[in-house]
Amino acid sequence: MSEPWDCVIVGAGAAGLFCAGIAGQLGLRVLVIDHAPKVAEKIRISGGGRCNFTNRDAAPANYLGENPHFCRSALARYTPADFIDLLKRYAIPFHEKHKGQLFCDRSAEDVIEMLLAECEAGRVTRWQPCKVLDVRATPTGFEIDTDRGTQSAARVVVATGGLSIPKIGATDFGFRLAKQFGHRVIEPRPALVPLTFDAPTWAAFAPLSGIALEVHIETGSGKKPMRFLEDLLFTHRGLSGPAVLQISSFWQPGQPLRIDLAPGRDVGALLREAKGKSKRQLGNEVAALLPQRLADAWLARADVDASTPMPQTRDKELAALGAALSRWELTPDGSEGWRKAEVTAGGVDTRELNQQSMESKRQPGLHFIGEVVDVTGWLGGYNFQWAWASAAACARAMAGQ
Ligand code: FAD
Repeated sequence: MSEPWDCVIVGAGAAGLFCAGIAGQLGLRVLVIDHAPKVAEKIRISGGGRCNFTNRDAAPANYLGENPHFCRSALARYTPADFIDLLKRYAIPFHEKHKGQLFCDRSAEDVIEMLLAECEAGRVTRWQPCKVLDVRATPTGFEIDTDRGTQSAARVVVATGGLSIPKIGATDFGFRLAKQFGHRVIEPRPALVPLTFDAPTWAAFAPLSGIALEVHIETGSGKKPMRFLEDLLFTHRGLSGPAVLQISSFWQPGQPLRIDLAPGRDVGALLREAKGKSKRQLGNEVAALLPQRLADAWLARADVDASTPMPQTRDKELAALGAALSRWELTPDGSEGWRKAEVTAGGVDTRELNQQSMESKRQPGLHFIGEVVDVTGWLGGYNFQWAWASAAACARAMAGQ
């Protein structure tokens, strides 16, 4: 067996590479192992190929998990501004798109090259593709069986991500390893994912596929339902777009979604006002407030004659139309699943991890970082910020800083 490593990191994705670079530069001898042939595939496909690498406003409130305070310390110690500074040092151009979301101007490849350069600066060794077959605790650390032989290390960092997009290398390795060392794993479920509806419910809406509009979307009950103002996209099988991806992380099977298709506008009042001064047909007035195809489908669904001249409409009917548009309630029958999910909600229970170091409270020297942990960000750069912050916390703690 070769000389022991200070740390072996399993997973050369966002969190694994970032952790390796920092740990290496702080003087640790680091080996990163990934079974996929290509490095950091998820960064490559993220943000439509431009990687929404952080969110200027990332804060603990933008994350969910069973232990919501866990992410506070790491997020406070490695902030979006820190990652922006790193990008600036590499002269990587970027821009803000929407609600604090920062994207590369050129390509996600810029972020990957930067992470690899950081690893190089830390003299990190990377084995890829290489399978990890087994991890065992020893009196001095760990033995790691790989298809390039057995390695020993003082510490092991699990950075194997979640279950989404299995075709580019996602596995449940991290969850299995956590369980092997006695950790509880919060049931993983697809999040930031399009939602689907049963065929009879969706038959009337499937022809609207491709229509996008800004909506208020809400789920949950009680004093604090989750609510977002974002774009909604109709698809052949259901609903997608940022509004639905955001709400999907909070949606529970069986619960309805409530959608306001004309946020900030009282459609009933606007139609009644139009009635006083317009001789146009009802269909034209509704189409002035909504995309035409949606307006047509909505009137057909409500069994209202779109060709009725406005003066002949009934106030009660206009009010009912407005109410239906501002509170469309429908219950998904499921989601598009791991194939389309951007992230995994659930994961290694954070109550059994140290929030300063991401180290297991059950097995000293074993750390979990990034998406494998039960910390899930909203859509908009928050998941990468968690990957960077948890990786930095872990690397610094391993180096005694
Ligand atoms: P990953 O980046 O997934 O890395 C895990 C690594 O572990 C992979 O390289 C994998 O090959 C390796 N691995 C897995 N199993 C094993 C094993 N058994 N042995 C060895 N290696 C293994 N987030 C944002 O913040 N902004 C975005 O713009 C954004 N866009 C996204 C777009 C898509 C389509 C998807 C799917 C996700 C997107 N995300 C985005 C989420 C973001 O990519 C992840 O949250 C982030 O990559 C998690 O980092 P990670 O290092 O924990 O896991």
